[in-house]
Amino acid sequence: MIPVIALVGRPNVGKSTLFNQLTRSRDALVADFSGLTRDRKYGEAKVGSQAFVVIDTGGISGDEEGIDEQMAEQSLVAIEESDAVLFLVDARAGLNPADQALARHLRQRNKSFFLIVNKIDGLNESLALSDFYALGVDKMFGIAASHGRGVNSMIEQVLAEFPPQEARPEAQLYDSIRVAIVGRPNVGKSTLVNRLLGEERVVVYDEPGTTRDSIYIDFERNDQKYTLIDTAGVRRRKNVRLSVEKFSIVKTLKAIDDAHVVVLVMDAHEGLVDQDMHLLGHCIEAGRGLVLAVNKWDGVEADQRDWIKSELNRRLQFADYADTHFISALHGTGVGHLYKSIDAAYDSATRKLSTNALTRILEGAVFDHPPPMINGRRIKLRYAHAGGQNPPLIIVHGNQTGKVPASYQRYLENVYRRELKFVGTPVRVEFRAGE
Ligand code: GDP
Ligand code: GDP
Repeated sequence: MIPVIALVGRPNVGKSTLFNQLTRSRDALVADFSGLTRDRKYGEAKVGSQAFVVIDTGGISGDEEGIDEQMAEQSLVAIEESDAVLFLVDARAGLNPADQALARHLRQRNKSFFLIVNKIDGLNESLALSDFYALGVDKMFGIAASHGRGVNSMIEQVLAEFPPQEARPEAQLYDSIRVAIVGRPNVGKSTLVNRLLGEERVVVYDEPGTTRDSIYIDFERNDQKYTLIDTAGVRRRKNVRLSVEKFSIVKTLKAIDDAHVVVLVMDAHEGLVDQDMHLLGHCIEAGRGLVLAVNKWDGVEADQRDWIKSELNRRLQFADYADTHFISALHGTGVGHLYKSIDAAYDSATRKLSTNALTRILEGAVFDHPPPMINGRRIKLRYAHAGGQNPPLIIVHGNQTGKVPASYQRYLENVYRRELKFVGTPVRVEFRAGE
């Protein structure tokens, strides 16, 4: 699971600058979830091969009287969501009483944090750092966010303390299909979770174990075991206080990463909105099995239905491998059919693939449509074998493989999907040079 890092500190210490530095190399992942994240911005970042999520909080002074409470609340939620906190201070401004208040605050909440002394450009670093010893933090780094100085080595050391955890919640059944139910607020996730669990043929096991993230609920249906990853927190014992806490992007991203198959719930009354597209983008990037559920299909007029279907066709072409179901979680219509697609996506995503079959398909694809010439020499693709599951990864060996165009890679991915009759999962093809 990806570690989550929150940036906190007084206004103007350089949080946004650092956020931009860290996320620059990546496409913006989760943009504006309006209303819910007023002062939180989420991005996905990568150092080497280690991905992490970074949250930019609007600002928290630690001085409860001096700040907008709503803003503080938002920052506190972000701190709770995070695995590590980077507490930024300004080397130019020196130690500020608000920094001390914030340090106390973080200690009270028992959060492990790192002190990041920013804006050390043009300053004597050890002198700049010594100013902040009074905060009593051992883990201290000097950086210049706007120049990128010290940023990489700092983040590497921070991440080294948070090795990605094994995604194995206690309640989880062996051999079960992990299904995450995700979607924007109010699309009907809670209603759907209750519906799925309330079905006659479903046997729900133990009380779900609570984790900080989502609720994991084990059950069995027609001899198949499932673990439902409930991001809506339906079965959480304590009622959650705030809607901002009920819906959490981090929780959603983690649920997607931890699932075999994601059911992305959308609201027919609202059509496809940007936030749906962002979540979909993350599902695809994570390579998870995918089932689309357009909910609240009850009460949608016939012409509206046609319009929604054509919108989906037009805008979801890049996810056309996913089954789409039009359901009513409220009335239970279509809900049983979701299982068929979930099972099919799981089977495709985890199927064992033989070197023989993969190589035969490769030969057919190359025969139908050979790869291009590069500097007068044809790219030669010789054989293929399986490289991983969920998503299925197919490794193709040959000559000049570094020069295979992206369009040809996509062509092979499509051929494999078609020939192997994969449903509900993306397929990835990678190339390796040599025999
Ligand atoms: P935030 O309010 O904490 O998000 O702070 P910003 O990222 O908006 O930065 C506040 C100001 O500090 C901006 O004018 C930045 O250009 C400046 N700044 C940020 N990082 C550095 C740095 O490493 N060195 C210097 N000299 N200025 C910086
Ligand atoms: P969540 O925030 O995604 O968990 O959404 P909820 O399950 O709490 O549902 C939000 C609202 O939509 C509630 O008022 C539900 O009763 C309503 N709702 C959920 N599913 C359906 C449905 O299939 N049809 C209709 N008409 N309303 C629904």
